[in-house]
Amino acid sequence: MTIQAQILDLMMELKQRRNEAAIVLITHDLAVVAEMCQRVIVMYGGKIQEVALVEELFANPMHPYTQGLMASIPRPSKERKGQDRLKAIPGNVPSIMNLPSGCKFCTRCERKIDRCETEEPPLREVAPNHVVRCHLVESAFGGAQ
Ligand code: SF4
Repeated sequence: MTIQAQILDLMMELKQRRNEAAIVLITHDLAVVAEMCQRVIVMYGGKIQEVALVEELFANPMHPYTQGLMASIPRPSKERKGQDRLKAIPGNVPSIMNLPSGCKFCTRCERKIDRCETEEPPLREVAPNHVVRCHLVESAFGGAQ
């Protein structure tokens, strides 16, 4: 953890020295994302599933995969009292050689509907600087039913 913090500090220092510089950070560590990032792109199955500014993403995750990631963060709270297990996303990541033809997350999504297996949803803007790829969100925001 100490080495990680030192490396992240060094990256931020280098970025601050060059105004035009940007850092693309690829990680599964949501604590690092919260600390370091301004804009977050959530990927699954080789596709962008959600894009938002970091504050918006943590406050209002809309894709079921993003919601699953957020639910798996350990955080002591009153709601978690008595729960001894973190919530996990069910199933396994499918092989990149054998992805579903519809939504790439459909083999693990607890909210999937029939069309999820056959139709890949488009990325849809749900708010300024916030896009999501999910049939449920598409329907909720007036897209195809
Ligand atoms: S499109 Fe369907 S399977 Fe994919 S994340 Fe949305 S609800 Fe789940």
